[in-house]
Amino acid sequence: MKARFSVTIIAAVAAFVLGVTGASAAELSPKAINAALDAAYEKYRGLQEGKNADYIPALAKVDPELYGIALVTTDGKVFTKGDVGSEVSIQSISKVFTMAKVIEERGPDAISGNMGVDATGQVFNSIVAIEQHKGAEMNAMVNPGAIAATSMVAGASREEIWNKILAYYSDFAGRKLTVNQEVFASEAATNQRNQAIGRLMYAYGHIKDNPDQATDIYTEQCSVNVNAKDLATMAATLANGGRNPVTGKQVLNSAYVPNVLAVMATAGLYDDSGQWLYQTGLPAKSGVGGGIIAVSPGRFGIAVISPPLDAAGNSVRAQKAIADISKALGGNPYAVTVRK
Ligand code: GLN
Repeated sequence: MKARFSVTIIAAVAAFVLGVTGASAAELSPKAINAALDAAYEKYRGLQEGKNADYIPALAKVDPELYGIALVTTDGKVFTKGDVGSEVSIQSISKVFTMAKVIEERGPDAISGNMGVDATGQVFNSIVAIEQHKGAEMNAMVNPGAIAATSMVAGASREEIWNKILAYYSDFAGRKLTVNQEVFASEAATNQRNQAIGRLMYAYGHIKDNPDQATDIYTEQCSVNVNAKDLATMAATLANGGRNPVTGKQVLNSAYVPNVLAVMATAGLYDDSGQWLYQTGLPAKSGVGGGIIAVSPGRFGIAVISPPLDAAGNSVRAQKAIADISKALGGNPYAVTVRK
């Protein structure tokens, strides 16, 4: 009796330690997750750094105080803190899921062989980066590669392509997503630079046909509304081998998940991707709407929304909150324990 009692105690202590330091989703305790979310929320709530994107006029009007955190484990548990009801436009986070769609339809070589999978070291809408390698050696996380990826989604009409893209994002989020029409109209009226990027990628042969349609669909995909829980579920689907852990639907072939995560790791935070990976080890993707998603493979997906951005275009609070939470939960996939 006594022996059994101590075994139970040891198991409970081990479970607690694993819950704090992290090992796999099943071992993360809800208490540890909630504590990590609460701590990061409180720590950065008053932070006043950064500024909303304003080159898309509608984004300048979004409440800069909006601050929501969500974490979804690979066993389908959802944890939230702060403002998780409010939606922002997904912006560049969409690039991950359109690239995933192209890989699903055409295989990984379609992406590496067309726009490439290397970091540009330049801002996300750099034209210099295109010129440097004639649109190759690019990646699908920056605008030229992303517009080219959108142009590669198969479909007989704009409508068919668009419906496929929106349905695909919705499968990742586990609910039917919609477009923020105000943001779409605002960006469509001011996206002359992206139109130039699309045409340049066409000139270099990375877009085969109709670059203006590709830029227009890309602009619409960036305008899809999401809340923190949607984004965390999308990230958790990647963390869970392409199967949405909440709905159970296999959205992306698990064989392709490593390809998607690799490009996120290389270029998800643009020219600050190295900095980010050095600190967190997490494949991630930011958007100028203020969202960031990050994936701890096999463990959880996390998302934070907070509109003020740093100079590279990444949400200031989101970077800090995700880094803290992942550290508290042992989310870094490179941080392994020594085999004894
Ligand atoms: N729609 C935005 C653009 O093309 C997306 C940029 C971003 O989120 N970094 O400029």
